[in-house]
Amino acid sequence: MNQVDATILVIEDDESIRENIAEMLTDEGFAVLVAENGISGLKIAQENHPNLILCDIMMPQLDGYGVLTALRKKPDTELIPFIFLTARADRTDQRTGMKLGADDYVTKPFSRGDLLEAISTRLAKVNSQEQYIDGKVAREREKLEQIYHYDPDSGLPNRFLLRQKFNETVATRNTSEELVGILSLQILQLRQVEMVLSPKERQELILELTRRLRSQLGEEDALFLMNHDRYLIIANIPKTRAEIQSLLELILEVMAKPIQIGTFRARLSMLMGISCFPEDDVCLEGLVEKADFAASQVSQEIAYEFYSSHHREQNLEQLVLEDDLSQALEESWFQVFYQPKIDGNTGAIVGAEALVRCQHPQKGLLPPAKFIPIAEATGLIVPIGFKVLERVCQDQKRWNNLGLPPLKIAVNLSPLQFRQANLAQTIANLLSPHGLMVLPNFLELEITKSCLIANIPRACEILTSLANLGITLAIDDFGTGYSSLEYLQALPVNVVKIDQCFVRGLDTNPKNGSIVKSVIQLCHELNLRVVAEGVETVAEARFLQNLSCDELQGYLFSRPVPEREFYQFYLDWTASEVPELSQLLPDFVV
Ligand code: C2E
Ligand code: CA
Ligand code: CA
Repeated sequence: MNQVDATILVIEDDESIRENIAEMLTDEGFAVLVAENGISGLKIAQENHPNLILCDIMMPQLDGYGVLTALRKKPDTELIPFIFLTARADRTDQRTGMKLGADDYVTKPFSRGDLLEAISTRLAKVNSQEQYIDGKVAREREKLEQIYHYDPDSGLPNRFLLRQKFNETVATRNTSEELVGILSLQILQLRQVEMVLSPKERQELILELTRRLRSQLGEEDALFLMNHDRYLIIANIPKTRAEIQSLLELILEVMAKPIQIGTFRARLSMLMGISCFPEDDVCLEGLVEKADFAASQVSQEIAYEFYSSHHREQNLEQLVLEDDLSQALEESWFQVFYQPKIDGNTGAIVGAEALVRCQHPQKGLLPPAKFIPIAEATGLIVPIGFKVLERVCQDQKRWNNLGLPPLKIAVNLSPLQFRQANLAQTIANLLSPHGLMVLPNFLELEITKSCLIANIPRACEILTSLANLGITLAIDDFGTGYSSLEYLQALPVNVVKIDQCFVRGLDTNPKNGSIVKSVIQLCHELNLRVVAEGVETVAEARFLQNLSCDELQGYLFSRPVPEREFYQFYLDWTASEVPELSQLLPDFVV
């Protein structure tokens, strides 16, 4: 600061001294403020932040010590250089003043030289302190810049430089058709993996991941580390969806290779989501959010998804459905449809599968695929499942009253229900008021193998308790996923339902044909009944019949239908009044 620029406040109650000093300082080129007592001096200091204050000690109302004390308490005035002016050369006075934080002391009477020297010494000191602080701040700022803008492990720029790069990239587009792809890459197990690594190995891992990513990117593509396990790429070189897609393929290929760090070797799973400027959004925040959203929609371990508003709508729909499902339970929107099962030998209806539907007041009849996953995720499947069971009991009773022989109704049991404590007791309590406990073969429970393989001994216990109630147990969707037949022997199950993907076209697809053939043979050896589901054509039905499949279920016979329609179907079928079918299936002795 140049001395001429400095503003000096003079607080002095003696008018002649005050004016004398003011004149002297004005002559020297300072800007001068004056106050005739402590209170107004303090006020002027607080409002104007002078560069230096000259202040008398002895003043009425508020003395110099009071002014100094008040200034030192406020952050915006605490550092203003403060020089006492006093007639007293008393040492104790000086000490009191210094203790309060005065910078200097000038004893009246003083010469012009004394005063100016004190002032310029003070201002010079402040000046050098400011320079020092400026330098220090600049160095700190640089350090912070590095910390804020670059990741310490990878050295990659982080989110703060993203906007700059994005704006630059958008500005360099040659035509409005050119896309800028924003890719969000999330590494799934990074946190777990890092727990077993040393800090040095951790850095190595990040460096290796970064190196691999870089190897697939062009100079113009920018790579950012957003937070620890999320990379963001602004793709500048690819300009079309197809080009972006080939970049993604390349990235996934290098990223999917196992990584060796020290003795540790891992193959990391990663999800990539992509949004495109300007098609998906024009603002950076929106694009990043949409790329992240797309990544969250990736269902496989190592894969990518482009953002699509369709996804978003589906997701919103799901959220709404979550709310709806609780309401559905309260208001009984759930219905049970029945799909008959036909005896493979006799062609008689031996039972039916109960399949839940949700009659939504606005959306209409919802199939299970729309709401079962949500019900599973929220746990609502448990009360829904028991509602279905209850309805099946009521319907059974109705058919019984109408004179139908007991039918074995199969009800799907969700894994979550299966794991309920006291499952058998809950089901027994549900059945007994309907007087159903005495009927043999009235209920079959369809269980997917995912319920069973997690803990076979426990599953065995649960199944046994259910079997003791007289319930038939079926393994649903057999053949899909983990397909070991061994556990069949260990468990008290009675029925295996071959999944429809094996039934579809089994007469023309030799692979399906031979799978179904060997499953049926094996099950029969183990004394298990086999149900084929999803039978759609006469050829499939014949093929299954020839393999001695015990029961057939599928659209060929009937779609799942409401209770009353099922009852009517039963009557028609039993009276051989389903004309097309009796012609199509002359082999069936209906
Ligand atoms: P799932 O247990 O495999 O049920 C068979 C599915 O195949 C049913 O679909 C049925 O309508 C369909 N289907 C039957 N025959 C044919 C056919 O010939 N061709 C074709 N393409 N499909 C056929 P739905 O009713 O949509 O049920 C889907 C799934 O929802 C069921 O698969 C089951 O896993 C679940 N689900 C249904 N009701 C319940 C329930 O009350 N509780 C639980 N936990 N899950 C249920
Ligand atoms: Ca089923
Ligand atoms: Ca199935």
